[in-house]
Amino acid sequence: MRVLVLGAGYAGLTLARDLERRLPADADLTVVNDAPHHLVQHEVHRAIRRPAVADAIRVPLDEALDRAEVVVDRVTGVDRDARTVELAEGDAIDYDYCAVCLGAETAYYGIPGLESHSVPLKRVADAKAIRDRFFDDCDEGGTVVVGGAGLSGVQVAGELAALRDEEGAHADIVLVEQLDAVAPSFDESFQRAVRDELLDRGVDIRTETTVESVTDATVATDTGDIDYDLLVWTGGIAGDEAMGGERPAVRADLRLDRRTFVVGDADRAGERLRGAPRGEDGRRKRRRAGRVRDRRRRERLRPAARPLPLRGARLDCLGRRRCGRAGRPEHLPREGREGDESHRRGGTSHLRRGDFAGGRPRRRGTARLTRR
Ligand SMILES: Cc1cc2nc3c(=O)[nH]c(=O)nc-3n(C[C@H](O)[C@H](O)[C@H](O)COP(=O)(O)OP(=O)(O)OC[C@H]3O[C@@H](n4cnc5c(N)ncnc54)[C@H](O)[C@@H]3O)c2cc1C
Repeated sequence: MRVLVLGAGYAGLTLARDLERRLPADADLTVVNDAPHHLVQHEVHRAIRRPAVADAIRVPLDEALDRAEVVVDRVTGVDRDARTVELAEGDAIDYDYCAVCLGAETAYYGIPGLESHSVPLKRVADAKAIRDRFFDDCDEGGTVVVGGAGLSGVQVAGELAALRDEEGAHADIVLVEQLDAVAPSFDESFQRAVRDELLDRGVDIRTETTVESVTDATVATDTGDIDYDLLVWTGGIAGDEAMGGERPAVRADLRLDRRTFVVGDADRAGERLRGAPRGEDGRRKRRRAGRVRDRRRRERLRPAARPLPLRGARLDCLGRRRCGRAGRPEHLPREGREGDESHRRGGTSHLRRGDFAGGRPRRRGTARLTRR
């Protein structure tokens, strides 16, 4: 049996490490990634201000994996009928089961001039380009526009504001968001905290502002034009080219079909409110969703009246659990509270911050790394 994992980002690497432990010894496990390292992508914005971070957030795959064969190549297509994956350089690979974990690309929504005039932020090279452009074009004064105030956008705006202050530069940082709040898919308390922090750092936040077109000097929005020197676009995500630009909807078990799964940003399963209706209707729905989330969180934290019997485990109260030999019950939250290591006793193998002590993961194994 051959199991393929396409992509070694957070989803692909976590899955591959789990499969290394769970698959029978005679099953072949192959991971295909377009780079020989795992990128801790949610830290990539830090490399704008601290270029040395780039080394710490790239983890060699042959150190992070044990028995999997790692193929460094670009996936160009997945033929689900033939159960074959096409690669840019090497021969196609057949599979019995395949997990597509290719992440997502930046979405430009066909906005005229946006793609050609903006810098995205997905990779270390993007962070470097943003830093270089900041020093070339904005050091002496100028305007950086960050389009999209999701998690990456707010973090980019924060890093750029900190960089400006550290360097004594004079650039204006403008954060533009189409919806009515920064971090729009989070609770209102989180949104307020992020907004206050950004305002404290002198970021000019413009919500309910939609980018309509971009020229080499101006971002045209529905609330007026903004002259800019550097435009960073973090306004949305689309599927990888190998998936035809799609992020397919999958079933609850992440299956696209009997043999093919899609995990992580590559699918739309985890999407909460992205693409939610705009305007008043959207605001009402988001407030309602926030209330439901808050209630669920309160319920999770409330101690159960008596321990719940679970297969191989006993639950004293949610958030604190004991795991028996059979391991962690599947439907419990994956992580305990911060600093709580109890979830590891059941034998789960998450890639955790501690694995990166000293900027490198603990040496774990000797996965073979091949270029086909
Ligand atoms: C600046 C920034 C800040 C963020 N902050 C947060 C945060 O604070 N909290 C949070 O929850 N999320 C955050 N995110 C989002 C988070 O990083 C993603 O949700 C997460 O990385 C998705 O994991 P993934 O494995 O699905 O995809 P990815 O991490 O994108 O991994 C995809 C992998 O597939 C590889 N790949 C892609 N295409 C191909 C191909 N055709 N062939 C071969 N290999 C390919 C890539 O090189 C990569 O290794 C942030 C993202 C960014 C950019």
